[in-house]
Amino acid sequence: MAEYDFDLITLGAGSGGVRASRLAAQAGKRVAVVEESRVGGTCVMRGCVPKKLLVMGAHFAEDLTDAQGYGWDIGQVSFDWARLIAAKNAELHRLEGVYTRILRDSGVTLLEGRGRLADNHTVEVAGVRYTAATILVATGARPHLPKVPGIEYAITSNEALDLMQLPERVAVVGGGYIAVEFAGIFNALGAHVVQVLRGDTLLRGFDQDVRIALAEEMIGKGVEIRRETSVRSIEKGTKGYSLLLSDSESLHADLVLYATGRRPNTDGLGLAEAGVGLDDQGAVTVDTFSRSSVDNIWAVGDVTSRLNLTPVALAEAQAFVATAFLGRPTAVDHANTPSAVFSMPPVGTVGMTETAARRHGLSIDVYLSRFRPMRNTLAGRDERTLMKMIVERGSERVLGIHMVGPDAPEIIQGFAVALKCGATKSQVDATIGIHPTAAEELVTLRDRCPDPASELEE
Ligand code: FAD
Ligand code: NDP
Repeated sequence: MAEYDFDLITLGAGSGGVRASRLAAQAGKRVAVVEESRVGGTCVMRGCVPKKLLVMGAHFAEDLTDAQGYGWDIGQVSFDWARLIAAKNAELHRLEGVYTRILRDSGVTLLEGRGRLADNHTVEVAGVRYTAATILVATGARPHLPKVPGIEYAITSNEALDLMQLPERVAVVGGGYIAVEFAGIFNALGAHVVQVLRGDTLLRGFDQDVRIALAEEMIGKGVEIRRETSVRSIEKGTKGYSLLLSDSESLHADLVLYATGRRPNTDGLGLAEAGVGLDDQGAVTVDTFSRSSVDNIWAVGDVTSRLNLTPVALAEAQAFVATAFLGRPTAVDHANTPSAVFSMPPVGTVGMTETAARRHGLSIDVYLSRFRPMRNTLAGRDERTLMKMIVERGSERVLGIHMVGPDAPEIIQGFAVALKCGATKSQVDATIGIHPTAAEELVTLRDRCPDPASELEE
């Protein structure tokens, strides 16, 4: 008889949990996964997927306008928010079924309910105890709201994806990924959006030119950005909400969306009691193989707060299974992880920013191009694309590529392979472009920027 009920119990059936559970089961392990909400987790149910569907839905507003420059008479158009939300929900329902079937077909037992550790080999779900040799914590993260009087009137990205109707005036607090993505969605669909930033501009940590270019383009599309401003209080009025700002002005909105970061889901999990080390934000501290301070407890994905992106959670899950069950110790290399912000226009980025390279004392050349993409010419749209490449002087190695403009996420995904392979600028230059595309600009960047005075971007 087996010593434990399962070889592996995974807490959380999100991106990391589903991938790890499926692969471990396919490797012949007896696996259970515990999920308290919907199988698929944040990315599929409350994140990447519904967000991108709304971004795509919102983009048609611009596309319909631009089509007129190409000879189309559009006539009377209208938009039905409820129909978009219903279509999005039907797709999420389909995906939830797909993920549930993936688990079932791989032989994974789904335990529905909230799980917590009773000890380092025992998980309790709905009053029932299950034991396992190995435990994987993949419980993700949740929105974090600062303590502000009236914060109970604010919503987070969870609710923003399921509004009954499109608000007319939206206040978005925060300047990170989620804030700029939702500002873009609501603005494109016709709402008046005011984005309130405590910092000087959007997307802290991104390349400074990207941050400036994105803010310019968003303002050009109608988003109002209030910089170096914080919210003192939120009050509910007869029509909407009033936000009292740090400059003593008031901002009126029908919807207040806070996108002020996320915190790991570790509260009440029994981790500390089992001896699992947590950092000061509650994230599980792990080694490069995703093993926690307790030998048989591992953690992957957002709950470890390394790089909170779905493909990273998937890679960590895969590496965990290789290490723990397949006899192939595998550490995920987080270097040069590409990422995209599905703002309007979108951002794609891989590798070092200019500031980070200079801070590391590297001697670099910077190539930058700002141009009006061909599509915008007949459309009469002023929006400009930005492309920037950071190259190490001497070795000629490409250290970073950053882009703001249509298709940036798709373009940067390909260049990320080149960076992973250690591409040099001359190899990029030797690559023949595809014409006419925006991406070809990256293989024809010739003019070095003059060395700028050192400028702080973060
Ligand atoms: P999750 O996917 O969060 O899964 C954790 C699961 O654990 C959840 O299903 C939760 O219900 C469950 N759980 C938690 N506690 C318990 C418990 N005690 N018992 C049982 N179950 C529990 N990333 C991208 O790469 N691209 C994007 O475009 C993108 N867009 C995003 C948009 C939004 C609005 C948000 C919020 C996030 C976005 N992300 C995006 C980030 C991405 O969603 C996460 O990095 C990813 O989901 C992390 O996967 P995970 O497995 O670590 O956790
Ligand atoms: P981010 O960490 O990206 O941004 C948080 C923002 O909130 C920052 O602008 C920050 O300001 C601001 N902020 C934090 N605390 C306060 C406060 N008390 N008052 C006012 N502003 C505050 O978090 P998000 O919530 O946007 O997203 C969480 C993570 O989810 C992302 O970091 C990313 O890993 C992932 N994600 C990825 C996406 C993608 O891949 N496209 C899309 C969405 C999410 P400051 O800059 O001054 O610190």
